[in-house]
Amino acid sequence: MIFDIGKRSLQSESVLIPVEALFGDAKGSRMPSVQASRLNRTIAERVVAACPTSALALDRAGSRQHLTLDYGACIGCGRCIEVGDGALVAAEKLSRCGVSKSGLVRRFDVDGAGEILAEEPAMTAAAESIRALLGRALNVRQVDGGSCNGCEQEIVALNNPYYDLERFGIHFVASPKHADMLLVTGPVTRNMAEAVKQTYAATPSPKLVVAVGACGCSGGIFSGSYAVAGAVDSVIPVDGYIPGCPPTPAMLLTGILKTLRQRS
Ligand code: SF4
Ligand code: SF4
Repeated sequence: MIFDIGKRSLQSESVLIPVEALFGDAKGSRMPSVQASRLNRTIAERVVAACPTSALALDRAGSRQHLTLDYGACIGCGRCIEVGDGALVAAEKLSRCGVSKSGLVRRFDVDGAGEILAEEPAMTAAAESIRALLGRALNVRQVDGGSCNGCEQEIVALNNPYYDLERFGIHFVASPKHADMLLVTGPVTRNMAEAVKQTYAATPSPKLVVAVGACGCSGGIFSGSYAVAGAVDSVIPVDGYIPGCPPTPAMLLTGILKTLRQRS
């Protein structure tokens, strides 16, 4: 029987999911997207009250009120979508992967005047030169700074035949000494902080660091715990942030490629 399966597999057409279908895809992540024209003050107050992580917040700019959505703190619980009366919906696309920390935050006028767009600050000039140096191949060392393993499950999925990360020249390596990029998950626990610092020091320059998941970006649901040193950038410098709890493989791929090749 196993030979029949192998034979059928070899005879069947090879299917490659194009990178365009994966890039920016956020389906299944449960991250919210804001329909700015449907926002009003009542809905804004309701979604802010429903958010368990303060990813949604209201602030005042003169006579206007703004709703901010910090993807770095969002755990995709969906509560804002439930009470948002159509003003918040599940995101199908999310460009905020592999961006700077400030790039994770979106801001909306609550009286329906739309999104207040901010210029995404340029990633450092160092990242520019690193991109040029890395060329086409990228070796990634994944570092678990204290995660629940949810993010790791999605990272493992990147190597399955559907996402097939290796076709982009991206390989996971066993040692930071062989790595160009560290993919760091979890809130960094106090027990792991020194290990994360030493892993960073052992990675040859030029190197890139990507903070993964709500925990890596902001501490997530563990933020403020006595056992946690903080988000990844409280321990080592970070070049790109990938939100989500956990981020989907498509979001991870987008974030890795964007950190490597472009700014948002
Ligand atoms: S989905 Fe994100 S923004 Fe919405 S309530 Fe949950 S944590 Fe807050
Ligand atoms: S971001 Fe979510 S899935 Fe990832 S380590 Fe934190 S709690 Fe787990």
